[in-house]
Amino acid sequence: MLTVGVDIGGTSVRAAVVEPDGTVLAEASAATPESAGELDDTVAELVGDLAAGRSVGAVGLAVAGFVDPDRRSVAFGAHLPWRDDAVVDRLTERLGLPVVLEHDANAAGLAEHRVGAAAGATVAVLVALGTGIGAALLVDGAVYRGAYGVAPELGHLTVVRGGRPCPCGKHGCLERYCSGTALGRSAEELIAASEDFSVLRATWERAEPVTGRDVARAAEAGDALARRVVDEFGEWLGQALALVADVFDPDVVVIGGEVSASAPLYLDRARRRYADEVTGTGHRRLAEVRPAMLGGRAGVIGAALDARERAQRT
Ligand SMILES: [Zn+2]
Repeated sequence: MLTVGVDIGGTSVRAAVVEPDGTVLAEASAATPESAGELDDTVAELVGDLAAGRSVGAVGLAVAGFVDPDRRSVAFGAHLPWRDDAVVDRLTERLGLPVVLEHDANAAGLAEHRVGAAAGATVAVLVALGTGIGAALLVDGAVYRGAYGVAPELGHLTVVRGGRPCPCGKHGCLERYCSGTALGRSAEELIAASEDFSVLRATWERAEPVTGRDVARAAEAGDALARRVVDEFGEWLGQALALVADVFDPDVVVIGGEVSASAPLYLDRARRRYADEVTGTGHRRLAEVRPAMLGGRAGVIGAALDARERAQRT
C-alpha cells in the first residue's frame, strides 16, 4: 500500500505519493488558494492526480497551523483559509480514503525520526529554522503535543526582555534572533549601526529587505559583516540548543528548515555554545546535533508516513 502526504503551507500546497521507506514516487504542487472551499478542491485534485492508477490506501495532511488535540480539525493558521474547520471528516468523505491531520512541524519531525536524521533516537527534537522556528518533540517515537495540542512552541520563548517585536504580539521571542528572518533583521541593524563595508549595504540603502538567504550567500562569499551576523546566529542557536537540552534532554536534535541549507556556516559554533551553556556541562551526555536529511520534503513524507501508521493501527 502507498500513501499520499499533503503539506499545506501559506503559499503552496505540496503533495507526494510515498512508499513505506519514505521514498517519494511522484509529487505535485499548487498555489494555496484563499478560500476554504477552493483549498478542499486543490487537495482533492492533487490527491486524485497522484492516486490515479496507484494503490493508495490513506492520506495525511500537514498544515501550518494549530490542530485540535483530537486531530480532526484545524483551529487556526495565520495563512490558512481553514479556521475552526473539521477538515478530516469532510475530506475523508470526499476522497473516499482515511485522512489524518498533523501540524507541519510534527509531520517533519516524524519523517526525520522514521527515515531521516533522527532515526533510532529515543528523544528527538526537530528545530526548523525558516521564517520563524517550527519545533517538534518525539518521545519513544511518538509525537508529544501537550495537553491542548500546541507544544512545543520553542520559537516564542522570551529570550530578550523588551527585545525585538514579534508577530505573536510579544517582544524578544527566540525566533526574532534565531531564524531566517532574524538573519536579515540582524544584518540590517548592523549595517545601520556601522560604516563597515558589506555587499548587503546596497540592498539596505535601496530600503529593500535583506533576507536570510542574502546574508548566508554573502557570508559564504566571505563578507565580513555577514560573517559576524552568522556567527551571532550560531551563538543564539547554541543557546537555544542548551534550553532544549535542559528541558527535554534529547539524544538527537535535528536542525531543519530553509536555514539548515547553510548549516556548515554556523553549526560548529552552535554546538560549542550549546556544550558551554547546558546545565552540568562536562558531567552529562550531549545530544547529537544533526542537519535535517529530508529538506523541503519532510512535511509531505511525514504526513504520508503518519497516514500509513494510523491506517495500520486501525
Ligand atoms: Zn513570538
